[in-house]
Parts: sequence; structure tokens; C-alpha cells
Amino acid sequence: MTQTRADVDIVVIGAGAAGLAAGAALHRADASFVVIEARDRLGGRGWTLQAGGHAIDMGCGWLHSAEDNPFADVAARAGVELDRSTAPWQKPAWTDNFPLDEQRSYREAWAAFYDRLEKGVAARADRPASDFLQPGCRWNGMIDAGSTFINGVELSGLSTVDYDRYVDTGVNWRAPVGFGALIATLGANLAVKTGCAATLIDHAGTTTRVHTTQGAINARAVIVTLPTNLIADGSLRFSPDLPDKIEAAANLPLGLADKLFLAVEGADDLPVDGRLYGARDRVDIASYHLRPFGRPLIECYFGGAFARELEKAGEAAFADYAIGQLVGALGAGFRKRLTPLACSRWGLDPFARGSYSHARVGRSDARATLAAPVDDRVFFAGEACSRHDFSTAHGAFRAGEIAARAALAAIRIPPRS
Ligand SMILES: Cc1cc2nc3c(=O)[nH]c(=O)nc-3n(C[C@H](O)[C@H](O)[C@H](O)COP(=O)(O)OP(=O)(O)OC[C@H]3O[C@@H](n4cnc5c(N)ncnc54)[C@H](O)[C@@H]3O)c2cc1C
Repeated sequence: MTQTRADVDIVVIGAGAAGLAAGAALHRADASFVVIEARDRLGGRGWTLQAGGHAIDMGCGWLHSAEDNPFADVAARAGVELDRSTAPWQKPAWTDNFPLDEQRSYREAWAAFYDRLEKGVAARADRPASDFLQPGCRWNGMIDAGSTFINGVELSGLSTVDYDRYVDTGVNWRAPVGFGALIATLGANLAVKTGCAATLIDHAGTTTRVHTTQGAINARAVIVTLPTNLIADGSLRFSPDLPDKIEAAANLPLGLADKLFLAVEGADDLPVDGRLYGARDRVDIASYHLRPFGRPLIECYFGGAFARELEKAGEAAFADYAIGQLVGALGAGFRKRLTPLACSRWGLDPFARGSYSHARVGRSDARATLAAPVDDRVFFAGEACSRHDFSTAHGAFRAGEIAARAALAAIRIPPRS
């Protein structure tokens, strides 16, 4: 076997939360490494955009399980202020078109659904979460819509076991500067090569050779943090092939969640951090966060097949739908006060192809399969590798740190906390 000198100890592929957390751990350990990133920015699915004079998060926005979230420490170290006010979904929604007794009835239906689901998990059978809807319940459409917001997919495509494994303490904070901007601070002192896409990992020789759009890099180990859809569709190839990884990634597809931000003229009549629903009798709906941080904005949230359909129709379709629903709830005069600012289409994003991962029914163990190292040389991280924090930025961060520690151990460099 030919001996090839390594250019660096470790190549990290992807500069999202996982890749940057891995990079930061390698930096602390004094390993030689490079993070390569296909985009021309850091943060991946964490992306803060400046629009209309506001920092808006097109991807992740909330530090979930906030009191136990590593990004709270990242924020403290970076001097980034966090907002701890109650999340809109933890307060009653706009009552003019959704009276409180109706909201209570909806919440009770959710709680009863979750109760049945937990009992189903205790019976050890993995089934589509939709099996636990009460047949004929009038809130089923809206509960299913809730699943598209939380999981990016309808309940019929969701593994009950996986859903139940997710841990949420119920505490949610935000960064007024943007969660994407907070994630990007992790990259401040790291060697990150942007505009550089990995195309092939050749792990047949004594060193691992990462082929990229800017040439090849030889390394002792590599950490792959790509979104699962890009591993499953062969955007990044492996030689020799890694069929177990391709299969695991395919069993952890990214569902879809999209955001549309509308600017509101004279927003003072709307509650700060309020929540509004338009239609509530079907799955194809959106949810509306009024005046996030008190700003004159509405953040509209779409998920699942409905978001996919709107993505195909184009950005204007998101705005047409949302404005129609808001006008229905707030009155015809409201239309002229709304201006579309920015809209995501994560399903069409070539470096994501979706929003966050869920497990297919019966396939929740694919997370462990994906996370397992190959020959102590090819390591995997990213939100989909997390057993309890998947689909989140903090899950990605933790998976990145775990992969970095394992890679350092494999090449015998002691990690530093
Ligand atoms: C609309 C939306 C709302 C969300 N809301 C929340 C929330 O409120 N709270 C929360 O915690 N999470 C939320 N999430 C999820 C969270 O953003 C992700 O789970 C997390 O950011 C994923 O981090 P990652 O490092 O695993 O992947 P990514 O951030 O996707 O990082 C992977 C990186 O790899 C790069 N890449 C891709 N292909 C290549 C290649 N061939 N070569 C090199 N680089 C490549 C990508 O550009 C990307 O930068 C949300 C996501 C979306 C889309």
C-alpha cells in the first residue's frame, strides 16, 4: 500500500453547528485541521439574514431545552445577549378567530394524543405516529400540522419511537442577533475554507483523501457533517462505498419547514410575541408569530407536504397564502400593511435539501448506525446523529463534539475541554 503524507490531521466537512463545534474542539486540542464548507457563509441551516433592518433567522431560531443547551454557553462566551421571554406556542394564541375554550379543547386533544403515543411506545411497537390520533377528532388536521412544524413531516411518516426519544425541557430562548449569527461565532478563530465542496472521500489508502471542488486534501481522519439527504443521494461519495451509511441516511430523511417574514406597517396593535392561526381545520396551514422581539414583523411557519407544494409554486405562493390567511383573521385593511421581506426554500437548497431529520417508521436506530465511525478514520456528526436532540442545532453541536473527541482519540491526540 502506498504511503501518502497527511496534509492535516483532520478534515471536517461542513461548517454548520456540528462542523464548527467539531472544529472548535480540534482547535482546543491543537490538532491540525481544516473545515471545508460548500457555501460562502458559515452556519449551514443556522442562517441569520439582515432584512428590512432586522436580523432574521431563516433556519433555526430557538435554543430549545435552553437551560441545558450548549449554545447558552457559546452566547455567554461571545457576549451575545439571549432573550428568555415565553415562547409564543407556550401562551394562548390570538383569540379573535380562535376563542380560548376552543384553544383549550385543541390543547387537550394534543395532550390525549401524546398520552396514547407514549403508551404505544411502552408497548414497544414502532408505528406511524398517526396511529395514535383519535379517529374523527376535529383537531386531527391541526395536530398533524403541528407535526409538520415540529418534525417537518406529517404524523403518517413519523416513527413513534424516534419522536418519543426526543428530549425537551420546555425552556426556549432566542438570540436577538440571530441564532445563525451565534452559531457562526464558533468559526471566528477556525481555519474554514468556504466555497469548497467535498465530492469524494477515498478511505482505501493509509491516509484518507478528501476530493473537493478546490483540489484534494490528505488527512488522518475525516468528520462528515452533511445533512442526511446529501449523503443518501450520493452528493458526497465514498470509496470504498459505505452502503450502511447511505441506507441509514435514507432512513433519516430531512422533513421540510420553511419561514416567510412579512414586514408590518404600524404593528403596535398586534401583541409582542403573539401567535395567530388562520385556518384550523386541516393539515395544510401555517402558524404566525406576531412581532418577534417586538419588531414590526410576522414570522410565518410552514411545514411538510404543504411547504413542499409552496416551494414548487415559488416564493410568491408562500406570501399569497399567508397574506390571505392574515387578512381573513385581521380584516381586509390589513393587506396593505404587509410586505414580504424574505422566504426560505430549504428543500431546494442544494446544500441542505430539507430542514431537519426524522426517522422512518421502524428505523429510529439508524441514528446510531449513521453516527458510528468507519475504521476509526471516517467519523459522522450532524443533528441526525443525535439520539435525543436530533433535528436541533444543539443536537448537531453535541454530535460534532463527540465526533471530534473520537477522531482525536483515534489519532492519539488528547482532547481538551
Ligand atoms: C426553518 C428551520 C427552523 C429550525 N428551527 C430550529 C430551532 O428553532 N431550534 C433548533 O435547535 N434547530 C432548528 N432547526 C434545525 C437546525 O437548524 C439544524 O438541526 C442544525 O442547524 C443542523 O446543523 P448541522 O451542522 O447538523 O447541519 P448543517 O447546518 O446543514 O451543516 C452542514 C453544512 O455542510 C455544508 N455542506 C453541504 N454539502 C457539502 C459538501 N459537499 N461539502 C462541504 N460542505 C457541504 C452545508 O452547506 C452546511 O453548512 C431549524 C431548521 C430549519 C431549516
